Amino acid sequence: MKPLPSISADACRPFLSELEPLFDAMDREYERVAGRYGFTCTGCADNCCQTRFYHHTLLEFTYLSKGFRSLSETERGQITARAGEVVKQSEAADAWGDTIRLWCPLNDAGKCVLYPYRPMICRLHGIPHELRRPAQPPRVGPGCDDFHGQCGQGAYIRFDRTPFYARMAALERQLRQAVGCSDRLKLTVAEMILQFP
Ligand code: SF4
Repeated sequence: MKPLPSISADACRPFLSELEPLFDAMDREYERVAGRYGFTCTGCADNCCQTRFYHHTLLEFTYLSKGFRSLSETERGQITARAGEVVKQSEAADAWGDTIRLWCPLNDAGKCVLYPYRPMICRLHGIPHELRRPAQPPRVGPGCDDFHGQCGQGAYIRFDRTPFYARMAALERQLRQAVGCSDRLKLTVAEMILQFP
Protein backbone atom coordinates (compact mmCIF):
# COMPACT_ATOMS: atom_id res chain seq x y z
CA MET A 1 0.00 0.00 0.00
CA LYS A 2 1.79 3.12 -1.24
CA PRO A 3 1.32 6.09 1.16
CA LEU A 4 -0.51 9.08 -0.29
CA PRO A 5 1.35 12.41 -0.41
CA SER A 6 0.38 14.72 2.45
CA ILE A 7 -2.33 17.12 1.33
CA SER A 8 -3.19 20.35 3.11
CA ALA A 9 -6.64 20.48 4.72
CA ASP A 10 -6.94 24.15 3.61
CA ALA A 11 -6.49 23.22 -0.04
CA CYS A 12 -9.24 20.59 0.24
CA ARG A 13 -11.79 22.72 2.13
CA PRO A 14 -13.56 24.38 -0.86
CA PHE A 15 -13.93 21.01 -2.57
CA LEU A 16 -15.33 19.36 0.53
CA SER A 17 -17.84 22.22 0.78
CA GLU A 18 -19.07 21.21 -2.67
CA LEU A 19 -18.98 17.52 -1.81
CA GLU A 20 -21.38 17.92 1.13
CA PRO A 21 -24.40 19.07 -0.95
CA LEU A 22 -23.59 16.39 -3.53
CA PHE A 23 -23.65 13.70 -0.83
CA ASP A 24 -26.90 15.22 0.51
CA ALA A 25 -28.41 14.97 -2.99
CA MET A 26 -27.39 11.29 -3.19
CA ASP A 27 -28.94 10.60 0.21
CA ARG A 28 -32.19 12.36 -0.72
CA GLU A 29 -32.53 10.52 -4.04
CA TYR A 30 -31.74 7.18 -2.38
CA GLU A 31 -34.32 7.80 0.34
CA ARG A 32 -36.93 8.90 -2.22
CA VAL A 33 -36.53 5.73 -4.32
CA ALA A 34 -36.12 3.37 -1.33
CA GLY A 35 -39.25 4.95 0.17
CA ARG A 36 -41.24 4.27 -3.00
CA TYR A 37 -40.20 0.62 -2.83
CA GLY A 38 -40.91 0.53 0.91
CA PHE A 39 -37.34 -0.71 1.46
CA THR A 40 -35.64 -0.15 4.80
CA CYS A 41 -32.09 -1.21 5.57
CA THR A 42 -32.26 -2.89 8.94
CA GLY A 43 -28.82 -4.53 8.98
CA CYS A 44 -28.94 -8.02 7.47
CA ALA A 45 -26.72 -11.11 7.65
CA ASP A 46 -25.14 -10.12 4.33
CA ASN A 47 -24.29 -6.71 5.77
CA CYS A 48 -22.64 -4.33 3.29
CA CYS A 49 -20.47 -3.01 6.15
CA GLN A 50 -18.80 -6.45 5.88
CA THR A 51 -18.24 -6.15 2.14
CA ARG A 52 -14.78 -5.24 0.91
CA PHE A 53 -15.57 -2.10 -1.06
CA TYR A 54 -12.73 -0.12 -2.62
CA HIS A 55 -12.85 3.66 -2.78
CA HIS A 56 -11.08 5.62 -5.47
CA THR A 57 -11.35 9.32 -4.79
CA LEU A 58 -9.28 11.78 -2.85
CA LEU A 59 -12.55 13.51 -2.03
CA GLU A 60 -13.84 10.52 -0.07
CA PHE A 61 -10.44 10.03 1.57
CA THR A 62 -10.16 13.64 2.75
CA TYR A 63 -13.82 13.86 3.81
CA LEU A 64 -13.63 10.67 5.86
CA SER A 65 -10.35 11.94 7.32
CA LYS A 66 -12.11 15.16 8.33
CA GLY A 67 -14.77 13.13 10.16
CA PHE A 68 -12.11 10.98 11.78
CA ARG A 69 -10.38 14.05 13.20
CA SER A 70 -13.64 15.03 14.93
CA LEU A 71 -13.53 11.87 17.08
CA SER A 72 -11.89 11.67 20.47
CA GLU A 73 -8.34 10.40 20.76
CA THR A 74 -9.64 7.23 22.44
CA GLU A 75 -12.10 6.54 19.61
CA ARG A 76 -9.44 7.19 16.98
CA GLY A 77 -7.10 4.78 18.75
CA GLN A 78 -9.73 2.03 18.95
CA ILE A 79 -10.75 2.44 15.32
CA THR A 80 -7.14 2.50 14.12
CA ALA A 81 -6.46 -0.73 16.02
CA ARG A 82 -9.53 -2.34 14.39
CA ALA A 83 -8.43 -1.08 10.97
CA GLY A 84 -4.96 -2.60 11.47
CA GLU A 85 -6.54 -5.95 12.35
CA VAL A 86 -8.87 -5.84 9.31
CA VAL A 87 -5.98 -5.10 6.95
CA LYS A 88 -3.85 -7.85 8.52
CA GLN A 89 -6.61 -10.47 8.29
CA SER A 90 -7.56 -9.41 4.74
CA GLU A 91 -3.96 -9.70 3.55
CA ALA A 92 -3.61 -13.13 5.18
CA ALA A 93 -6.86 -14.32 3.54
CA ASP A 94 -5.70 -12.98 0.15
CA ALA A 95 -2.38 -14.80 0.50
CA TRP A 96 -4.30 -18.07 1.01
CA GLY A 97 -6.82 -17.28 -1.73
CA ASP A 98 -9.62 -17.28 0.85
CA THR A 99 -12.71 -15.08 0.87
CA ILE A 100 -13.27 -13.34 4.16
CA ARG A 101 -15.95 -10.99 5.42
CA LEU A 102 -14.89 -8.57 8.13
CA TRP A 103 -16.69 -5.66 9.74
CA CYS A 104 -15.63 -2.23 8.55
CA PRO A 105 -13.62 -0.73 11.43
CA LEU A 106 -16.05 2.22 11.52
CA ASN A 107 -18.99 -0.05 12.31
CA ASP A 108 -19.59 -0.11 16.04
CA ALA A 109 -22.40 -2.41 17.23
CA GLY A 110 -24.20 -2.15 13.88
CA LYS A 111 -23.88 1.64 13.53
CA CYS A 112 -21.47 3.65 11.37
CA VAL A 113 -19.42 5.88 13.67
CA LEU A 114 -18.83 8.35 10.82
CA TYR A 115 -22.21 8.04 9.08
CA PRO A 116 -22.34 11.68 7.82
CA TYR A 117 -18.85 11.26 6.35
CA ARG A 118 -19.27 7.78 4.84
CA PRO A 119 -18.04 7.17 1.26
CA MET A 120 -20.23 7.25 -1.83
CA ILE A 121 -20.91 3.51 -2.22
CA CYS A 122 -22.11 3.32 1.40
CA ARG A 123 -24.79 5.86 0.36
CA LEU A 124 -25.86 4.22 -2.91
CA HIS A 125 -25.66 0.48 -2.28
CA GLY A 126 -28.77 -1.63 -1.75
CA ILE A 127 -31.42 -0.60 -4.28
CA PRO A 128 -31.42 -1.44 -8.04
CA HIS A 129 -29.75 1.28 -10.10
CA GLU A 130 -28.62 2.22 -13.56
CA LEU A 131 -25.46 3.76 -14.95
CA ARG A 132 -25.28 5.33 -18.41
CA ARG A 133 -22.18 5.74 -20.58
CA PRO A 134 -22.09 7.53 -23.95
CA ALA A 135 -23.04 5.31 -26.89
CA GLN A 136 -23.74 2.32 -24.64
CA PRO A 137 -26.98 0.86 -23.31
CA PRO A 138 -27.58 1.67 -19.62
CA ARG A 139 -25.95 -0.80 -17.24
CA VAL A 140 -28.44 -1.97 -14.66
CA GLY A 141 -27.30 -3.18 -11.25
CA PRO A 142 -29.48 -5.30 -8.96
CA GLY A 143 -30.39 -4.47 -5.39
CA CYS A 144 -28.83 -6.31 -2.46
CA ASP A 145 -30.18 -9.64 -1.19
CA ASP A 146 -32.08 -7.92 1.62
CA PHE A 147 -33.75 -5.63 -0.92
CA HIS A 148 -34.95 -8.64 -2.94
CA GLY A 149 -36.10 -10.33 0.27
CA GLN A 150 -38.17 -7.28 1.25
CA CYS A 151 -39.34 -6.02 -2.13
CA GLY A 152 -39.28 -9.09 -4.39
CA GLN A 153 -38.86 -8.76 -8.13
CA GLY A 154 -41.37 -5.96 -8.71
CA ALA A 155 -41.12 -3.15 -11.26
CA TYR A 156 -37.87 -1.18 -11.37
CA ILE A 157 -38.08 2.37 -10.03
CA ARG A 158 -35.51 4.49 -11.78
CA PHE A 159 -32.41 5.22 -9.70
CA ASP A 160 -29.78 6.70 -11.98
CA ARG A 161 -26.31 6.98 -10.46
CA THR A 162 -24.90 8.64 -13.62
CA PRO A 163 -25.28 12.33 -12.63
CA PHE A 164 -23.78 11.61 -9.19
CA TYR A 165 -20.78 9.78 -10.64
CA ALA A 166 -20.27 12.55 -13.21
CA ARG A 167 -20.33 15.31 -10.58
CA MET A 168 -17.98 13.31 -8.32
CA ALA A 169 -15.56 12.79 -11.22
CA ALA A 170 -15.55 16.49 -12.13
CA LEU A 171 -15.01 17.58 -8.53
CA GLU A 172 -12.30 14.97 -8.07
CA ARG A 173 -10.48 16.25 -11.17
CA GLN A 174 -10.58 19.81 -9.80
CA LEU A 175 -9.31 18.76 -6.38
CA ARG A 176 -6.48 16.70 -7.82
CA GLN A 177 -5.44 19.58 -10.04
CA ALA A 178 -5.48 21.99 -7.09
CA VAL A 179 -3.35 19.77 -4.84
CA GLY A 180 -1.16 18.30 -7.60
CA CYS A 181 -2.05 14.67 -6.95
CA SER A 182 -2.21 12.14 -9.77
CA ASP A 183 -1.81 8.95 -7.70
CA ARG A 184 -4.36 6.23 -8.38
CA LEU A 185 -6.40 5.33 -5.33
CA LYS A 186 -7.85 1.95 -4.49
CA LEU A 187 -8.37 1.75 -0.76
CA THR A 188 -10.78 0.12 1.64
CA VAL A 189 -12.01 2.16 4.59
CA ALA A 190 -9.58 0.21 6.83
CA GLU A 191 -6.67 1.08 4.54
CA MET A 192 -7.74 4.73 4.42
CA ILE A 193 -7.80 4.94 8.22
CA LEU A 194 -4.25 3.61 8.44
CA GLN A 195 -3.17 6.42 6.10
CA PHE A 196 -4.93 9.28 7.88
CA PRO A 197 -2.51 11.97 9.08
S1 SF4 B 1 -17.97 3.61 6.33
FE1 SF4 B 1 -19.76 3.30 7.63
S2 SF4 B 1 -21.47 2.76 6.24
FE2 SF4 B 1 -19.52 2.47 5.11
S3 SF4 B 1 -18.95 0.31 5.41
FE3 SF4 B 1 -17.93 1.48 7.04
S4 SF4 B 1 -19.36 1.40 8.79
FE4 SF4 B 1 -20.51 0.81 6.94
